[in-house]
Amino acid sequence: MGIITGSGRPTLPPEETLDPPDWAELRRLGHVMVDDVLSYLETVRERPVWQPMPEEAKRRLRAPAPRAPEGATKAYQDFREAVLPYPTGNIHPRFWGWAMGTGTPFAALAEMLAAAMNPDVGDFDDAPRRVEAQVLAWCKEVMGFAPEASGLLVSGGSMANFVGLAVARNARAGFDVRQRGLAGGRHPLALYASREVHSSVKKAVEVLGLGREALRLVPVNPRYEMNVRVLEETIAEDRARGCRPFCIVASAGTVNTGATDDLEAVAALARREGLWLHVDGAFGAWAAISPALRGQVRGIEKADSLAFDLHKWGYLPIEAGCVLVRSQEEHRKAFSLTADYLAPGEGGISAVPDPQSGYGLQLSRGFRALKAWLSFKEHGFDRLSRLVEQNVAQARYLAERVREAKDLELLAPVPLNVVCFRYAPASLGERERNERNRRLLRRLQEGGLVLPSPTILEGRYGIRVAITNHRSRREDFDLLVSEALRLGREGA
Ligand SMILES: *Cc1c(COP(=O)(O)O)cnc(C)c1O
Repeated sequence: MGIITGSGRPTLPPEETLDPPDWAELRRLGHVMVDDVLSYLETVRERPVWQPMPEEAKRRLRAPAPRAPEGATKAYQDFREAVLPYPTGNIHPRFWGWAMGTGTPFAALAEMLAAAMNPDVGDFDDAPRRVEAQVLAWCKEVMGFAPEASGLLVSGGSMANFVGLAVARNARAGFDVRQRGLAGGRHPLALYASREVHSSVKKAVEVLGLGREALRLVPVNPRYEMNVRVLEETIAEDRARGCRPFCIVASAGTVNTGATDDLEAVAALARREGLWLHVDGAFGAWAAISPALRGQVRGIEKADSLAFDLHKWGYLPIEAGCVLVRSQEEHRKAFSLTADYLAPGEGGISAVPDPQSGYGLQLSRGFRALKAWLSFKEHGFDRLSRLVEQNVAQARYLAERVREAKDLELLAPVPLNVVCFRYAPASLGERERNERNRRLLRRLQEGGLVLPSPTILEGRYGIRVAITNHRSRREDFDLLVSEALRLGREGA
């Protein structure tokens, strides 16, 4: 409340805003930031893939909450000194750990544009909603889904799997799960995936209230693909025991070895059995954009729901994932819940009959569609498809180098972009081999030259190289092989 002055009008305290006090100054800083970040990416190859943070930088990141303004320039300085030099490393040409995309410079700039527009995407009559719709339409097109299918952009593969499985559960439980909860069912629900299924599927099963026991883990064949005969038998046994099978989760590109289940066979079985088919294609689905590789994921378009990432093999900055659902109606039925304050208007900004918030958990949704839209336009799917093929060719090249090296051993087939190998000279026993490779991986990572991640296949500790990197070159894999041999021989 202000003070009443002689003129009768209150004088109010001055109002503040978070806009810059001096736009010209922020503009200069902004240009510096753009210059810094582009130089940073241009020269990424010259730096270590990863390096541990020095104590001083760690200490700065433990400082208490700032009360007084430090200003943008000082805040940016802190970022430059304590944050920017210590990335995860997945922007580097020799990072092949887990499954992380590289990102692109233009998509990084796109993030800035998205944040500047700062829309709440999907529920309002604006351009960002249409951008997301167009990105989804393109995703459907390249994955072989019909235009009538529905979809949602989400944070990543984990959330995409969660959404797909939530729709599967509600569509095939045989009772109204939303109204009655899982206690409303007379028969325990069961779903199926291979032993190689990603942990995010297990997490989704738990969070959806199905319980880990509901997820039957089916063994794999020597190519790490789901054994479809055992799958069929397990479904029959479950039915005989009074369970209600409702869903099969197939993998297109398993995280361990890049294996793809026989999607045609699994789809045919799911159809015969009346089960929902969900495909986790986090990175593997992206093979579908390449005419040369599409055969590797044949049948992917038969999924009732398909989860995949745009931030792995789509090379977009984290986070961006996508879920496609064949039946728009089932998708909407799983999530749509319209409160009075969210009801679509007949005109104006909320004249959106079918808001995207009715297709997932989030209400406020960011503009992650923009980096996808700009990036797909920048490069076109033909180039992206060539990059995916290039990564597969590099995986084959690396597998060949491993086969040729006397002391290295390939641990699994290489159907796509993942290579698992180990240092295994004849002189070492199995236990020693595991120990040696554990140390070898650590030394490779700490050396800062290359960055693979670990896995264990049939009890054998392996070095795992997952190539979703548009910056890698063949010589980078030569370096990996020579380093693995050098450190392996040194005793790692
Ligand atoms: C990475 C991955 C996921 C999880 O995706 P996020 O984007 O990390 O949430 C799921 N399945 C597979 C096969 C993956 O490789």
